[in-house]
Amino acid sequence: MRGLVIKSTGSWYQVHGEDGREYDCRIKGKFRIKGIQTTNPIAVGDQVEFEMEPNSDNGVIHKLHVRKNYIIRKSINLSKQAQIIAANMDQAFLVVTLASPRTSLGFIDRFLVTAEAYSIPAVLIFNKLDLYNEDGLEVLEEYKAIYEQLGYPCYTVSAIEGTNIPLIESLLKDQTTLFSGHSGVGKSSLINALLPGRSIKTGEISESSDKGQHTTTFAEMHTLPFGGYLIDTPGIRELGIYDIKPEELSHYFREMRDRMHLCKFHNCRHLNEPGCAVLQAVENEEIAGSRYDSYLSIYHNNETRS
Ligand code: GDP
Ligand code: ZN
Repeated sequence: MRGLVIKSTGSWYQVHGEDGREYDCRIKGKFRIKGIQTTNPIAVGDQVEFEMEPNSDNGVIHKLHVRKNYIIRKSINLSKQAQIIAANMDQAFLVVTLASPRTSLGFIDRFLVTAEAYSIPAVLIFNKLDLYNEDGLEVLEEYKAIYEQLGYPCYTVSAIEGTNIPLIESLLKDQTTLFSGHSGVGKSSLINALLPGRSIKTGEISESSDKGQHTTTFAEMHTLPFGGYLIDTPGIRELGIYDIKPEELSHYFREMRDRMHLCKFHNCRHLNEPGCAVLQAVENEEIAGSRYDSYLSIYHNNETRS
């Protein structure tokens, strides 16, 4: 039978079968992604084939269907291994806020680079609208000006007051959506507002960084009552930029990608090269200074890491 993986613990997988029932499954055989070693071969969002074990209610997954996309992150302690977080997403929402605590532009840019690298359309959701004072609303306009111009849709909501929740529902309907956000932005509150009757703990910081063993956090998939799936990433503070070479980084900044064919050198790194179209655009304020700062920061971190 064919099914959709809706939960994974690394050894057991909960699969939503084509018959509408849920099955606990193990896996049999090897599932490899070319060139990467993974701690978990199958993740939420995967489409699989499974069969029932004799005399048991449990299933065995024996085939993985080709993925449209997937996101991975490096395991915290097993540096050569990666963890697949989720597969087959239609879009990725980053929940951010400009009040208690304000999400930094750098954090947003790292997320957007990740989404670009995996070719997953990204959307920014500004939560806690009810808390924004005049300054907050001004910052909101600044943030929106940067990202809407780049083609990233921005929406404002209040999970607590229910503002714009129907709008978010209409964006989620019949889609598989990844929800991400640093802790405290109100991601759990927002998910609770979207999933009445299913309560996720809020107000807790649950970053898992257990020493001595590989990471134990896994994404969870929720079925939305109005159609579609929401993938939550509890305890995953940041997706992280995995395996992007510094010289490729500018491909994942839309405004750089659009201009770099104009650089004098075809292998321009947009750092200090003469005739660099990107540097020129930063100078002319056609590229936001904050975006270029994020580029430099990711570029240099990546460089020291590899
Ligand atoms: P998470 O860490 O992103 O899952 O955040 P939580 O949902 O646990 O929320 C963190 C804190 O922000 C809690 O105290 C929530 O009550 C509060 N919060 C969440 N959404 C809103 C909102 O829209 N407005 C206000 N004022 N507070 C919110
Ligand atoms: Zn350049």
